[in-house]
Amino acid sequence: MKTLLSAFILLLSVSILSCTQQDTDQNASNLVQKTRFVTIGTGGITGVYYPTGGAIAKIVNKKRDEYGLRCTVESTGGSVFNVNAVLSGDLEFGVVQSDRQFQAINGQKEWQDAGPQTNLRAVFSLHPEAVTLLAAVDSGIKTFEDLKGKKVNIGNPGSGQRENSIDALEASGMDYTKDIIAESVKAAEAPGLLQDNRLDAFFYTVGHPSGAFKEATSGRRKTLFIAIPHTDELIKKFPYYAKAFIPVSQYPGAENTEDTLTFGVKATLVTSAAVPDSVVYAITKEVFENIDEFKGLHPAFQDLTREGMLEGLSAPIHPGAMKYYKEVGLK
Ligand code: GLU
Repeated sequence: MKTLLSAFILLLSVSILSCTQQDTDQNASNLVQKTRFVTIGTGGITGVYYPTGGAIAKIVNKKRDEYGLRCTVESTGGSVFNVNAVLSGDLEFGVVQSDRQFQAINGQKEWQDAGPQTNLRAVFSLHPEAVTLLAAVDSGIKTFEDLKGKKVNIGNPGSGQRENSIDALEASGMDYTKDIIAESVKAAEAPGLLQDNRLDAFFYTVGHPSGAFKEATSGRRKTLFIAIPHTDELIKKFPYYAKAFIPVSQYPGAENTEDTLTFGVKATLVTSAAVPDSVVYAITKEVFENIDEFKGLHPAFQDLTREGMLEGLSAPIHPGAMKYYKEVGLK
């Protein structure tokens, strides 16, 4: 009897002890959960990615106590930088051009040597982006062919637009290393350089309206959007390109009177397979359930639809996002 009693007491104390341990673990994980910070990599502050990251963070942070999640936004060099930072774990999310997402998952262009980036995951797509070329009127550039011999910014190496500029030039038989004086500065610097006569033209793949083109078209030096030729061939050759145009009415300072034809892609949100489902679920759910409020946060979002936000994704959809899409019948 005595042995039985002491065995019982021992069992009781062990279970009390382990309970306390479990509670402590639970409290600790609640605390960790409360302070979980996730960062969204965007682009230059005069682009649309930066306010896009801000819009996502604004919506998600309203529920920060519920999810134990706090989103912050970082200005970066753009799509290529964001893909790599997400894959290395430096950032949890990144806004990335749909063509760059495709190239990364398939091991093309910047990822040719490293091969397919199999940990990349898609979350949803966002606004359309147009490959946009703006020239100074006094540089004498009236058509795309006139770029020959001119000082043109094609984009910094971490940007999405750099490859689009190269593709556009090649479609017109131009080699960026020979036929133009190519500059590689960040898009945020290009408007100032153009206005200072240190650039004749610059490319930027961006949603409209954007701060960069507002700045570039409202200076003393007059400017003109230049149409990009051979877009049919580009679209045929590359599965990720589509026809697009620049809505010139959004830039009354430019000399154009008609919308300018070009090609374009979509902005998308990506993450890594290593980011927990609960985090991706929370972000997806909050943006989708508050889509009207979200659309009001930037004019480039005006045509977004929940169905459309599942188009343009080539990496596998992250299971956290997929859980939400299945719940609401979008998948
Ligand atoms: N499309 C650009 C890039 O991938 C960024 C555009 C923006 O910041 O809105 O680098």
